[in-house]
Amino acid sequence: MPLFGAHMSIAGGLSKAIDAATTLELETVQIFTHSPSQWSVQPTTDPKKPWAAKALADDAVSAFRTALAASSLQCATAHDSYLINLASPDETLYQRSLTAFTAEMHRAEALGLAYLVMHPGTPTDGDEKAGIKRIVRAFDKIHKACAKFKVMVLLETTAGQGMTLGHRFEHLAAILDGVKDPDQLGVCLDTCHVFAAGYPLAPSDDYEKTFKNFDVSIGLDKLKLFHVNDSKKPFGSRVDRHEWIGHGHLGLEPFRLLVNDMRFAKLPMILETPKEGPNGEAMDPVNLRTLRELIGKKKSA
Ligand SMILES: [Zn+2]
Ligand SMILES: [Zn+2]
Repeated sequence: MPLFGAHMSIAGGLSKAIDAATTLELETVQIFTHSPSQWSVQPTTDPKKPWAAKALADDAVSAFRTALAASSLQCATAHDSYLINLASPDETLYQRSLTAFTAEMHRAEALGLAYLVMHPGTPTDGDEKAGIKRIVRAFDKIHKACAKFKVMVLLETTAGQGMTLGHRFEHLAAILDGVKDPDQLGVCLDTCHVFAAGYPLAPSDDYEKTFKNFDVSIGLDKLKLFHVNDSKKPFGSRVDRHEWIGHGHLGLEPFRLLVNDMRFAKLPMILETPKEGPNGEAMDPVNLRTLRELIGKKKSA
């Protein structure tokens, strides 16, 4: 059976996410290690090192590690900040992103996390090739600065809003082919994103075609984690809006195929769906139950 989990809030402290995950009986969890809409790096007066990050407080790290070790979670993952753009043609933003992503690596490593999921980036000038080159250059630097780190970076498939890279498997393949050390990178597949990007996930023939396509361009051995989200927006819309499992344009069938796919039987599958229902009820338990009930089912309807 896959490891089921959800993205959990770190409000009130990093270890709070572990407490909440334990209450929900999750097998895996994803967190932000810093507020995702705020920079973790600030400008300095040193022209050689224009950006600096503050490390996590030692007591926060040890509280998190203690809680994680005591929990029944089998895998914990971080997701990077939305502000980071390693494909940016703006040199200032690129350098800030590089420092911020390196700081993400240090935080994830300090916390003992297995993976750091990241959005590849957006070449805001529309030049995809140059954007991919900048991402490759960034990872070569990051891998050098973080040699021997245990945490693995996962490039996430994206919906392809605007000029965002990652909505074609070939974009991720080009990054993996370009870096000096591809063994340090894996891939996270988000069901909502690939569907919005135009890769069908049902019926089963189309599901197989999409994963065949993934295997040919990237290699299924690179696939380490899933984000399991339904989509508020239709197939091929290139718009990224997550919905509760079975309530969106994906419906239940892609999730039934996924949770019963023996190739992915040990992989983390993490919900990033809206937390609250129309009456303020907690929706994570509902979505987790929906996923677990699909195990062993021959038909979703
Ligand atoms: Zn995602
Ligand atoms: Zn998304």
